[in-house]
Amino acid sequence: MNVTVDDDLCRGHGVCASACPSVFVIADGGYAETTTNDVPSDLHPSVRDAADGCPEHAIHINEEHHVH
Ligand code: SF4
Repeated sequence: MNVTVDDDLCRGHGVCASACPSVFVIADGGYAETTTNDVPSDLHPSVRDAADGCPEHAIHINEEHHVH
């Protein structure tokens, strides 16, 4: 799973960092950043929760399907 935060949409509420602190951190500028581009599967549910909970819909998830 690849996850990104759209800087233009993020307003820095921090909902994502609360839902999944391993993946989302609030950077010095006050907006969210992701700590990884390849989210481990055990964190997928909380990343989806974060994306669903983001008031600005700034979190974009790209589900990757591994072939083998
Ligand atoms: S919940 Fe959304 S708007 Fe708030 S900090 Fe996270 S990405 Fe930004």
